[in-house]
Amino acid sequence: MEEYRLQIIGFGPAALGIFVAADRVGRLTELLNTGICIHEKISDIESWESLKYRIPSNSPALDFLSEIRTDGIFAPLLSGPLGTQLKACGTNPVCLTLIASFLKQMLQTVVKLLDTHSRCQVIWGHSIESIKYAEGFIVHSQQTPLHSQYLLLATGACAKSVTDAELQITVDAEQLLRGNADEEIARYLAEKRPVYIVGGSHSSFSAAGYLLEFFSDHFHCAAPIKILSKRRVKEMYSPSEAQQTLLKDNDLINTDTGEVNKFDGLRGVARELYRQICKGEESRIEIIYGPQADIRLTQSSPAPVYINATGYRPRLPNICTATGEQLVPDTTVGGNNVLKDSVTSMLLNDGNPVSGLYGIGLGFADLKTDGCQVGINFFHGCSAARILTGILETPDHQNRPRPVQSPNFSQPAH
Ligand SMILES: Cc1cc2nc3c(=O)[nH]c(=O)nc-3n(C[C@H](O)[C@H](O)[C@H](O)COP(=O)(O)OP(=O)(O)OC[C@H]3O[C@@H](n4cnc5c(N)ncnc54)[C@H](O)[C@@H]3O)c2cc1C
Repeated sequence: MEEYRLQIIGFGPAALGIFVAADRVGRLTELLNTGICIHEKISDIESWESLKYRIPSNSPALDFLSEIRTDGIFAPLLSGPLGTQLKACGTNPVCLTLIASFLKQMLQTVVKLLDTHSRCQVIWGHSIESIKYAEGFIVHSQQTPLHSQYLLLATGACAKSVTDAELQITVDAEQLLRGNADEEIARYLAEKRPVYIVGGSHSSFSAAGYLLEFFSDHFHCAAPIKILSKRRVKEMYSPSEAQQTLLKDNDLINTDTGEVNKFDGLRGVARELYRQICKGEESRIEIIYGPQADIRLTQSSPAPVYINATGYRPRLPNICTATGEQLVPDTTVGGNNVLKDSVTSMLLNDGNPVSGLYGIGLGFADLKTDGCQVGINFFHGCSAARILTGILETPDHQNRPRPVQSPNFSQPAH
């Protein structure tokens, strides 16, 4: 059986964060020397589309660069055309398709590095659905069982379903913002179907902005787009904005930075749109709050189109123990995010840390006073740094590969 120190499932921006963090602290070579195998379900790097949304970022352009070491492996990219363009945008938002192109270049840099390292590999084109946890982690890929002491889940998140509307027409905000649902949306709008955006999140207002920008011809009457929000819409405030604002009970205040609702509230262009609606300057959108926001009250003929912006839940592969029991990581109430051990950052099962199991990224973010920390700068910052330390600083005797019995897997193909 092939042995690695670390296997990573999913190679999106969050997994990239581990390499950004290692480069930042000068430990990249050390990390590669331990042996890493990455499993990514998309077939090749050309098809990589993480964060390729046709909307402005909710973070300032510089946030995407702030954790990258300026004289490290990504230095040529920072001074290249895309890096220069991002720097020039400074504290302004930037279209996420540009960010996606920059991140793809970073990923290519890491892939090249891994390709030249004998103890590392990236396996493309295999979706990892199940993992065995038996004195480490066994991942079965391309007929070969691979073993590692550590496993990092970086599989991202999928849209939560809108169960009540299952029989109706539902489009995920995520797909809409990528431009993947344009044809069907155009067809539904031509059929004069009402549009309801379900949820009062940042994605909801981004989706509303997207519809107004790319389908403006269809929206002439009053309030053709309705946003259904059961709870009050939250805005993010910088420390200075927070001082001039009357905060509400459920606003999340970061006592270290003074920011309010940082990973929870609307920001950037989505926040501007929300404010225009509140001031009566955007009559094409109506926000329906509280009990009236129930989708059952919206049934009509022709059937409405629901844009599902109710949030995300982590994509969790099945993990089972040597005795066949399922090991389901603990999640927050509502299942939006995994829970982590406050000391080791390892994922939990029934409240106990699962030795060697980490998670990072959307659906696997760290929980702080300001909510789920879902920004790229965070994945590339302290979240990744904590995991890196856990992986590299375990004493050697604990890292020695152990023999693993795995009767369900084929023999190692050497
Ligand atoms: C609409 C939207 C806008 C956002 N805007 C911003 C922003 O402006 N600024 C910001 O900082 N953050 C933003 N985020 C949050 C976050 O930074 C991004 O979602 C980011 O793409 C998350 O990266 P990830 O690696 O966690 O997940 P993903 O990008 O989803 O990557 C996961 C990877 O894992 C692979 N994978 C999944 N399952 C398997 C499996 N079983 N086996 C093998 N491979 C698998 C996938 O193919 C994918 O490549 C936004 C998120 C959304 C949804």
